[in-house]
Amino acid sequence: MRKILLVANWKMNPATLAEARKILRGIESNRRVEVIICPPFLFLPLLKGAKLGAQNMFWEEKGAYTGEISPLMLKNMGVRYVILGHSERRKYFQEKEEMINKKLKAALKAGLKPILCIDKISQIKRDLRGISRKERKNLVIAYEPLFAIGTGKACSLEKAKKMRIFIQRNLGYFVPILYGGSINSQNARDYIKNAGFQGLLVGGASLNPKEFIDIIKRI
Ligand code: PEP
Repeated sequence: MRKILLVANWKMNPATLAEARKILRGIESNRRVEVIICPPFLFLPLLKGAKLGAQNMFWEEKGAYTGEISPLMLKNMGVRYVILGHSERRKYFQEKEEMINKKLKAALKAGLKPILCIDKISQIKRDLRGISRKERKNLVIAYEPLFAIGTGKACSLEKAKKMRIFIQRNLGYFVPILYGGSINSQNARDYIKNAGFQGLLVGGASLNPKEFIDIIKRI
């Protein structure tokens, strides 16, 4: 049976490596749950023992792109996943579907597993333009309704379930779908058990070790 994917998006936190290591203490995958930690780029090579994901990347392999990180660099650093199209990237960095599409193709080419975040169905079509069914086998989708991110107001189970079914009917049941948006230890299990998601993308609660360990135990 496929493991439940639990992805921790630390965003631009914490401020020090010592804090990052402290958060990680006691957090580990088990036979049911695969935990992926997505810290800021700087901490990626320094956090040993965790399965890692990046929060973003550029689409070129190398070159004159000041300030960017390439898929090859991530791959060579042992990173396995990369979050793409997060709503904060779409909002603060004007990432458009065309850009996200290039990033997705580059990630797949480098052998990374993209975790594509969407909040509307229309994004999927444009983000995934030109990506074959075969390539989609390495893709993870995270349904993250905007109103639920960082607000404490998680999406209703009915709506989330409807979206999950709709996405899987369109993309194929082999693509794991995660739910993200105000997940905590109290509501996490419902999205797996009652709404049928294959995993969760967790922001705020992933920075609180006690809460995150509780999520691992309860799902
Ligand atoms: C996110 O930003 O991907 C997210 C799910 O955040 P939170 O869990 O804090 O709502």
